Amino acid sequence: MHPLVAADAVGLQRLLKAREVSATEITQAHLDRIADTDPHVSAFIRTLDQAALDHARDIDRRLSAGQEVGALAGLPLALKDILCTKGVETTCASRVLQHYRPPYDATVVRKLRQADAIVVGKANMDEFAMGSSCENSAFFPTRNPWDLERVPGGSSGGSVAAVAANDAPLGIGTDTGGSVRQPAALCGVIGVKPTYGLVSRFGLIAFASSLDQVGPIARAVPDAALLLEAIAGHDPRDATSIPTDVPDLHTTLEAGVEGLRVGVVSEFMGAGMSDGVRSVVTAAIDRLGALGAEVVDVSLPHAGYGVSAYYLIAPSECSSNLSRYDGVRYGLRVDGETTEQMMASTRDAGFGPEVKRRIMIGTYALSAGYYDAYYAQAQRVRTLIIRDYEAAYAGCDVLASPTSPTTAFKLGERAADPLSMYLSDVYTIPSNLAGAPALSLPVGLDDDGLPVGLQLMAPVLGEPVLFRAARALERELAIDSTPRGNGSLAQVAA
Ligand code: GLN
Repeated sequence: MHPLVAADAVGLQRLLKAREVSATEITQAHLDRIADTDPHVSAFIRTLDQAALDHARDIDRRLSAGQEVGALAGLPLALKDILCTKGVETTCASRVLQHYRPPYDATVVRKLRQADAIVVGKANMDEFAMGSSCENSAFFPTRNPWDLERVPGGSSGGSVAAVAANDAPLGIGTDTGGSVRQPAALCGVIGVKPTYGLVSRFGLIAFASSLDQVGPIARAVPDAALLLEAIAGHDPRDATSIPTDVPDLHTTLEAGVEGLRVGVVSEFMGAGMSDGVRSVVTAAIDRLGALGAEVVDVSLPHAGYGVSAYYLIAPSECSSNLSRYDGVRYGLRVDGETTEQMMASTRDAGFGPEVKRRIMIGTYALSAGYYDAYYAQAQRVRTLIIRDYEAAYAGCDVLASPTSPTTAFKLGERAADPLSMYLSDVYTIPSNLAGAPALSLPVGLDDDGLPVGLQLMAPVLGEPVLFRAARALERELAIDSTPRGNGSLAQVAA
């Protein structure tokens, strides 16, 4: 593997600042890597080679002229195809948006460009971010670089697989119920769901607006911190954006965990998880104790209702948000005799089966006579979960659990059984319902040689302590994030 694609973002930054490499060289090395790996992994819906090289050359020109460059200068980044990019096709991996070219950039995209990150491509995903395997993409599934017969997780599977495959040191995903953390766990990289409202949703194509958050993906905690600092911040164009300063993650990043109280969520350590996940996660939590953290058991008594509440709230919001795809304003139109027929045919042809299932569940849950029994009840459960977290944080700085009950599963294994797919997110969904930050950190491999992720969670706006704990464990474990072993990318791409 080329040393420039093996390097992490902070390392590349150092080389660029010392003028030992150019942004063009960094970018070209990653585009070459994508050409090698993507025929096997299929992480990208579209690569942006020319735009990436143009941007890199402009950065090099500014560096030579002694001018300012941004905080992410020259760092390649895989962008989930759910964020609007001006003039560049943005599909949400849906036929209904195929060929849609947004007239504006999402705030996150604007910030990335201002920071001089190099967007190398638009990454594959489950259609409209609904799924946990990337198999719901209308175009093709993405494969896990650790085992090409397995899923990368989802819905941000493309961005995560790209980072795991060394196509880019940085990725951007979105997490509504686990879509950054679960694939990060399955592909052995770091994925973060920030506090709801910390990162702007303007220009993020909506799935479930009260849950959606944009989050960073990287192979090292300091890289993820760098990326989050670049995309966070108040945005008047997003009514739910928190009017707060960008969090300072770097001051305390290396402060260690001595004196921190880590609560192990007992409801997330019960039945349903694989033995491999249990033993690797337990060992990682023990290491936090050995590093000086005080490890205690905590309970989130209502967390077990999280999946049920989520699968009423998220589809309800989705059924409303996706009503805009009517063949009139965006993307696909299938003609019909009447307006109603045109709309029905457009939506029938444009949406895949999982998206249709969500729209139907949501429409039902919101309908007169059922609203109180389903949607309103789910919102009450959400409040109970928020209170559970508040009680847990009265005695703890961070909480810990597995990210996903299993390691990566085979393509097709859960595709026919929506419920087993939904249960992939049982440990991640409660943080979305609570609006609180959480991340997944690779902490080892199971007996099949597949990555296991530890989930760390923190109170609302607790990102500094979240990154601090993750960094301490990352340094202690010194995990090698290179996919290897039977059936992995290492066997087909040098
Ligand atoms: N897998 C969950 C779902 O299908 C979460 C998706 C997400 O976070 N976008 O809804």
